[in-house]
Amino acid sequence: MAGSSESRRPKKGKDQRKKFLFSLFGLLLIAYGIYLFLVISSIPPSKDNSSVLSNEIVGAYHVHTRFSDGRGRVEDVVKAAKKNNLDFIILTDHGHPNHACLQSQGWRQGVLVLAGSELSTHRGHLVALAFPDSLKNLPRQAEEAARLIQKNGGFTVIAHPYSKARWSWGKENALYFGLELVDADTMLKSKGLSLLPYFPLLLINQRAFALKMLKPFPSPFEKWDLLNEKNPPFYGFFSCDAHVFYKTLLSLFHLRIPLERELPAEFQRARQIVLEALRSGAFYNSIDAAQPASGFRFWAEKNQRIYPMGSLVELKAGETVWLRVRIPAVNSQLAALIHNGRKILTTSDRDISFQPMETGFYRIEVYLQEKSILPPELPWIVSNPIFLRMVNHDSHSLQSATSVQNH
Ligand SMILES: [Zn+2]
Ligand SMILES: [Zn+2]
Repeated sequence: MAGSSESRRPKKGKDQRKKFLFSLFGLLLIAYGIYLFLVISSIPPSKDNSSVLSNEIVGAYHVHTRFSDGRGRVEDVVKAAKKNNLDFIILTDHGHPNHACLQSQGWRQGVLVLAGSELSTHRGHLVALAFPDSLKNLPRQAEEAARLIQKNGGFTVIAHPYSKARWSWGKENALYFGLELVDADTMLKSKGLSLLPYFPLLLINQRAFALKMLKPFPSPFEKWDLLNEKNPPFYGFFSCDAHVFYKTLLSLFHLRIPLERELPAEFQRARQIVLEALRSGAFYNSIDAAQPASGFRFWAEKNQRIYPMGSLVELKAGETVWLRVRIPAVNSQLAALIHNGRKILTTSDRDISFQPMETGFYRIEVYLQEKSILPPELPWIVSNPIFLRMVNHDSHSLQSATSVQNH
């Protein structure tokens, strides 16, 4: 009898320990659930700007599929694009070029699927766009590849210059058209384990997860401004570089192209319109997961002529030019006008008219002021620049040009 009571005691102790651990786990789970709930509720809902959607199109650039190292098929990316109300996507599978990816282009379920290729060059990764499918064996020498693509009617964008396969800068930067300013893949990886507690959000609230991934990314912006001083024009791209979690990553960084009319149903024509807008910098970038940015506009006006983003405005002595900005309605925002890499004006106004006194390049960054939704140094909207240049005049000052004419 004594023996059996002795053997019962440790069993009882074991049961109690089990019960205690079970309750502790339950409590931790509840606390974790409350934490996730607080994370989700700390993010203000996004405002519906769909009323102004009609005169611009929105898309996601730099997406990988199973044609290279992406996890999904083209159909999965199209599905994610539709969930995010995107008009176009730009697939950029690795290859020299990646022919299978190029052949997947077309209208698919109402989404314009375009494709280029991400080349692995001796300087780093280079995205080539708008080149003919007939090109084969693209060179691994970056300048050679950029030259060949350009000769065949295409253009190139330097991918993730300060992460992964970092770009090693050479002298012939004028060969490239664009630079990626931010990319979701780098942010996802650099946040690494600190994102682990937020992974359940991928199932219950992708927007909250996407916003938790974000971090400031100043180096590409600084380099972009330097490039535009030395090798204009250089256009800035927000890149998804999505390989997985398409629905989430395609919600984050968008390219927005103001357009007078809808894209035509004819694929080649629609492709040409989008690629021409990107090639000429006539688009802006936005973090739409924070707040849909549709309706932003930045343009120059000279002699009643309108010059869109990306334009070069040539000025003769005595001519005046206006820069105009329109910012979509949100609760609170701050716009910065940047001239040759320096912030020269910040304002909370939503309509800005500015008469520049100097030549050079001008661009706009807009910051959301709502608490905790974006890291403080990460702009919500980034326009492409407008370039001002004097013709037949050595001065950089538009004021002195005016006074020359007055004399
Ligand atoms: Zn890459
Ligand atoms: Zn990539």
